[in-house]
Amino acid sequence: MKLFAVFGNPIVHSKSPILHNYVLYRLKIDARYTRYLLDSSKDFRELFFSLGLSGANITLPYKEDIANICDEICGIAQKIGAVNTIIKKDNKIIGYNTDAIGFYKNIEDRNIKNALVIGAGGSSKAITMILRENNINVMVSNRSKKNLAFFDARGFETCINDEIPESIKKREFDIIINATSSSINDTLPLQKDDLESLFERSKIAFDLMYGKKCIFLESAKTKGLDTIDGSKMLLYQAIPALSIFTNIDESAIKPHMEYIYKIINPNN
Ligand code: NDP
Repeated sequence: MKLFAVFGNPIVHSKSPILHNYVLYRLKIDARYTRYLLDSSKDFRELFFSLGLSGANITLPYKEDIANICDEICGIAQKIGAVNTIIKKDNKIIGYNTDAIGFYKNIEDRNIKNALVIGAGGSSKAITMILRENNINVMVSNRSKKNLAFFDARGFETCINDEIPESIKKREFDIIINATSSSINDTLPLQKDDLESLFERSKIAFDLMYGKKCIFLESAKTKGLDTIDGSKMLLYQAIPALSIFTNIDESAIKPHMEYIYKIINPNN
């Protein structure tokens, strides 16, 4: 029997075991998926091999640390520098990033030409890279200057949240994405006036958080924007991840994953 796991801290809330185990069962694959509370990424390599895992998902706050210990990094993960999916192959660890496509699936059928991404952490990197791959202009704003260096080095237009130029406040963004953890603490990622000014001219607001009322999306709704939360991003990153684990085509995984997702998220 093959064994898979999700590693993170905290991890008890993770819905990944439910999603993956249901599909493994429905596809009659001799494998199980569990979760593991990881206190530190130090010695992860030894831990991963000693547990006899065939693959794993990586979540907060280790996606960048684990990318650094992979023997090989595939696809868009190379540009992002963070992995959320790893497999064991010939005693090597191979890393992938399915968060990027998991995000993009939410908006691929919308006509988006330019985007403002607020936040400069791991998920912001995944989002900005997949948007750029799809020829969407991206501007990145962040609370602190330090974490903007990644984006500056790659030629993105950037600014600091508290110093957004007037010309940017008046720009029409097709989508404004909150890729910060502000909503978890019921705060807005930008100053209220600035955000409202940006919402006046925008069409869609996206917040990566899911599972609770979101002050960012509530504010966007009052300005008439379409809103999207992060719940489907979880589903759409899990489908390609399980395909990487099992070598089974995503089309066979998708209906089962969508079914169990709907059961555990009846409001989506
Ligand atoms: P990181 O810790 O890597 O980055 C957090 C970012 O948020 C930083 O840029 C930080 O700014 C900024 N930030 C934090 N608090 C505030 C605040 N109060 N106001 C303004 N900016 C703030 O986190 P991730 O990028 O990995 O994740 C971000 C969020 O996305 C998390 O809430 C996570 O749960 C969610 N997420 C959801 C996913 C899904 O499947 N739906 C997948 C991945 C993430 P600074 O640089 O100044 O510290």
